[in-house]
Formats: sequence, structure tokens, C-alpha cells
Amino acid sequence: MTAIIPEEKRFTCQQSGHCCSSREIVVTVTYRDLFRLYNTLENNFQQLLNKISFFRFDKLIPLITRKQMVLTPIKTSQGNVIPGLRKREDNSCILYYPPNCGIYNSRPLACRNYPFAFIKKKKEINCVWVRNSLKSCPGIGKGPPLDFNTLKNNGIEHFKEIQSHNHVVDDLNLESVHGKPLTARESLWVLLAYGEKEKQDLTDT
Ligand code: SF4
Repeated sequence: MTAIIPEEKRFTCQQSGHCCSSREIVVTVTYRDLFRLYNTLENNFQQLLNKISFFRFDKLIPLITRKQMVLTPIKTSQGNVIPGLRKREDNSCILYYPPNCGIYNSRPLACRNYPFAFIKKKKEINCVWVRNSLKSCPGIGKGPPLDFNTLKNNGIEHFKEIQSHNHVVDDLNLESVHGKPLTARESLWVLLAYGEKEKQDLTDT
């Protein structure tokens, strides 16, 4: 896979907290994000549930919309859902303790990449600014130009993680077509089990 990053990009976080408290930003999570968060919360499932929301979609998602979505929705007995971080009433992330992220070292993939988003076209990856970030993020344009190879590798890692997550969800969805769909809560256990298995496999190699 090749990466195209046409323009020089400068970004240094100014800890404005905009991305962690914006009404427009919803942080969805992969099974690896969930597993990292679960570990940070000392494997306390109830604590994890307190931090997670399930974003629901209509039962029938048109194929065109489905193709534009980064994470595949999980079919559950409560409808099609994508897990993400819960927000407080003021729209701030449940894990934001101004001016810091409460889980900085294990923050989700989307947060680690912000304000960059990656777009895949055939075999190429393009790195773009997250929508509206140019207007709202004071860190954009600050600091030295970012290293091209770092951005390229971030893009490649991003798609690997998304791809692994979507494979897991595809398996889960296939099982729910043939059997009884899980509840949204039960689906979290399955995603965590994949994270645990992956960790075990890494330990064994
Ligand atoms: S997880 Fe951390 S970095 Fe991500 S939105 Fe929440 S507070 Fe911000």
C-alpha cells in the first residue's frame, strides 16, 4: 500500500481541548481500543460500560452509506450499533479532565490520529485534516513540518487496525445471522475476547 501526503503538514497540540469537547466529534472505538481501555480500567467491565455508548443506526443501512462508514456496525438484538466513547451533557468526552485526557497513553486510535484522517483510494492512502479541524484546532500550522514517514506509517497502521476490527465484526455479524443476535453489552465481551486472544498470541510468539 502506498501513501500520498501531498502538502507539508505542521501540527503541535496546544491542549485547547477542542477535539475532546466538540459537539461535532464522536469517538468510535475498535476492539483494540476497547481492550486497551479495559486494561487501563483494571479490567473492570462495569467501569468500561460507564465509559461506552452504543451509537445506533437504522436496521437497514444502504450499501452506499455502509461503504462510507469506517467501522462496520455490529448487528445486535438492539439494532445496528457502533461502540464509542460516552459524552457528558456539555459534549465533552467522558474521559476528558481539562486540560488532560484521562487515558492519554491508551487513548483510542481516532484520538491518536487527530487532527488527521486517512482516506483509502484503491491501493493508496491519503492523509487529510479531519473535517472542520482547520477552523477549530489551534495546533494546526504550529511547530516544525511533520515527518512524512511517520504520517505514512500512521496511515498504514490506521487501516490495519480498522481492517482487523471490521473482520472481527463481520464474523460476529455472520454468527448473529445464523443464531440469536447478541445484546450490545454482550458484543463488548466478544470484542474484548478478541483483544485478549491477540495479546495472548503476541505473548506466545
Ligand atoms: S479519549 Fe482522551 S483524547 Fe480522546 S476525546 Fe477523550 S479525552 Fe480526548
